[in-house]
Amino acid sequence: MNALRRISSVLILLIFATQLHAAEKLIALTFDDGPRPYVLFGTKDPQPAPGLLALLDRQQVKATFFVMGWRLTPKTWGEGRYETNVGITCIDAAKQLLKDGHEIENHTFGHEDLRIAEKKKGEAWVLADVDKGAKVIEALTGSRPKYLRPPDWDLTSEERHDLEARGYHIMTIASENPIAVRDINTLDYLCAGKHPTQCPKPSLAQAVLKQIDVRERHGVTTDILTFHELTTTTAQLDEVITALKGRGYKFVRLDEYMQRVK
Ligand SMILES: [Zn+2]
Repeated sequence: MNALRRISSVLILLIFATQLHAAEKLIALTFDDGPRPYVLFGTKDPQPAPGLLALLDRQQVKATFFVMGWRLTPKTWGEGRYETNVGITCIDAAKQLLKDGHEIENHTFGHEDLRIAEKKKGEAWVLADVDKGAKVIEALTGSRPKYLRPPDWDLTSEERHDLEARGYHIMTIASENPIAVRDINTLDYLCAGKHPTQCPKPSLAQAVLKQIDVRERHGVTTDILTFHELTTTTAQLDEVITALKGRGYKFVRLDEYMQRVK
């Protein structure tokens, strides 16, 4: 009798634990195309903008940054024509990311469309470019990055196969990955620039929250949000994080997310 009771209480506990797991609400915040010091640290003049790192720190959120490898070369401050030089190199910005407990992953070295690059330069070039991206990250972090997000998520199935064989976990918006581990395209890049006409309405923040609502209605409560290092994104992020925290979501880095979401 005692044994039976013990077994049934273990069963109840198991069912409870499974339900708890199913209801887990997790977000992995990810940012592409950096490190961009003027976004991470903010700018004072001529247009004051708050820094992304201070915001994440205040919200106590750890995030994942998919960086362009070329930025992690010495004396690189970003793209001079478009990006304000705040006197901090991209490498120093990346070091601060790590210090703050964020994660750095691979967005290739040259940030070229891998499908087009294969046609123009061949697959060997593509594989070398991804490896080069991984190498400069490893030089900084001490460990080889595991996750690769191809620019615009674009690559051939052959490239996917060969990159996976080299140990890369490919991030995708395509349906070949289960929905919970598929990237969500926030469309935040459509809000950048002086006169964005295609930015999601009524605002980026509201559009992102709506996407998460729709997924929740389908029973999906874990999300990988793909943003970019943009000041226009930073300006909307506080609202997104605060709202999602209010709905019971926890924010984790992608490495932890992938361990908890299967
Ligand atoms: Zn990109």
